[in-house]
Amino acid sequence: MLLQLPTETIPIQEIPIHKKVKLFIKREDLIHPQISGNKYWKLFYNINNYLETLAENPLIITFGGAYSNHISAVSATGKLSGIKTLGIIRGEELEQKWRDNPTLVLAKRNGMNLKFVTREEYRHKEKLTEFLLHEFPEALIIPEGGTNKNAVQGVKMMLNNDTKDFDYLCTAVGTGGTLAGISEFCEDNQKVIGFKVVEDSSLENKILELTSKRNFHLTDAAFGGYGKINDENVRFMNDFKVKFKIPLEPVYTGKMMLKLFEMIDADYFPEGSKILCFHTGGLQGIEGANLLLEKQNRNLII
Ligand SMILES: *Cc1c(COP(=O)(O)O)cnc(C)c1O
Repeated sequence: MLLQLPTETIPIQEIPIHKKVKLFIKREDLIHPQISGNKYWKLFYNINNYLETLAENPLIITFGGAYSNHISAVSATGKLSGIKTLGIIRGEELEQKWRDNPTLVLAKRNGMNLKFVTREEYRHKEKLTEFLLHEFPEALIIPEGGTNKNAVQGVKMMLNNDTKDFDYLCTAVGTGGTLAGISEFCEDNQKVIGFKVVEDSSLENKILELTSKRNFHLTDAAFGGYGKINDENVRFMNDFKVKFKIPLEPVYTGKMMLKLFEMIDADYFPEGSKILCFHTGGLQGIEGANLLLEKQNRNLII
């Protein structure tokens, strides 16, 4: 077994907001220094089951964008296990520029091979997958963001006795695997809220393919679109870090928390509610985001 169960329990911290509800955060970002947050759990069974097949030439292939936390996590997993990894990266222009991108530099340093494809090719990932399986029949191909049935099973491990006591469970939603796992394995009386950081109208149906329950609600938290960073966002994350000593990142957790604060202020939650949000990690993305902000002469994320 390559990815291990943690020996220490993941802390749940109160965020003292002094409102009519109580807010807590579970620090999955602390689970592993390189394979951070929900990506650890989404990879857990995918990788461990694959290792059991004892492929002669093991290879993990996956897909992602230029700043992808998933690419970063898979590359680290490859390094840890000595398994070769291949990342299919969206954007052929990055072939010349990957050295300016901290996520891709890290992936390369972890030994990942990078193949840059056009946005058009990337959109037709099924075709690419077919081709890759033909070329590398023994490879494990993990979809974008790591979401599949094994990932959903792994997310079960984000829930335990400590998470049972909350009325609401909150997570950022990219491809929906994390939300599906929380929905499937939480207690019957718990409500799940997914903060959508992508504008994708098919997300709800994709999630319903991965969970048997309808205990979740999706709310829009894209704030201008996936990966778009606005100055309000940066200010919010920086204030949050100063006040509560917890770092957030601009693509997922920063947007979830901003929207969650807006909902609390708008009295979405009944008085006395206990809310738990998951810190799904992704802090590696801050460096790349700051390089972009710096170029635009904007305030940086601290
Ligand atoms: C990938 C990611 C998510 C989204 O998870 P999905 O299962 O794809 O919805 C949330 N937060 C962080 C930090 C991530 O890296």
